[in-house]
Amino acid sequence: MSVVQPLLDLQEIDGRIRDLQRELKDIPQRKVQEQERLSGAREALARAQAELKNAQLRVNEVELEVKARRDKIQSLKQNQATLKTNKEFQIFNLEIAKIEGEIDNYEARQLAAMDDVIPAKHRVAEADAKLKEEQTVVDGYIAELDARLSVVQGELAAAEAVRVEVAKKVSPQFMLYYERLRSKRWPVVVSLGADCVCNGCHLVQPPSVGQMVRRNQGLVPCQMCGRILYMA
Ligand SMILES: [Zn+2]
Repeated sequence: MSVVQPLLDLQEIDGRIRDLQRELKDIPQRKVQEQERLSGAREALARAQAELKNAQLRVNEVELEVKARRDKIQSLKQNQATLKTNKEFQIFNLEIAKIEGEIDNYEARQLAAMDDVIPAKHRVAEADAKLKEEQTVVDGYIAELDARLSVVQGELAAAEAVRVEVAKKVSPQFMLYYERLRSKRWPVVVSLGADCVCNGCHLVQPPSVGQMVRRNQGLVPCQMCGRILYMA
């Protein structure tokens, strides 16, 4: 067994801790990405709502035009009662007939505008249903991510507790070297290949390094990357 076996055990648990920490860090980002998947459906709904609003506005505008002309006719008829000559009376009749023609015109436009409202309402309902459907799927994923988050937190706490125990078996001198290198290189402990190559940085080691590793008596670092070498 290699003298660095306790360090290999420590490295194994550190590897698990690294993976869990990375996953823990990724989960909030993955939740954001899930939410962003809804933006297309949200925009489609907003567009459909805007189109419906415009269609309703057109109906209302035409309605106002019709109402203004009906008011005008009423006012003309009231004035007509006070007229003195037949000629004046005829002029008012012509004016009223002209406005009634305009009203017919506007009412036809009103019907056309109302025809646009119904399909626009359908499109809003469709877009709303689509968004709700997608929201349900996304909510499902987010619930899974939240569940995974608490599992990972539990696994991380357990792994950290195991690490404390595993670390006790490592000599202080080895520990110091390992911890110093751990922030810069990963993995810290690597096997020395049969061709005397460091399996961390792939540099061929001098024969003396190979001999020291084979002797298995102490900590032998790679000449290039400083990783701790062992014979598999
Ligand atoms: Zn190396």
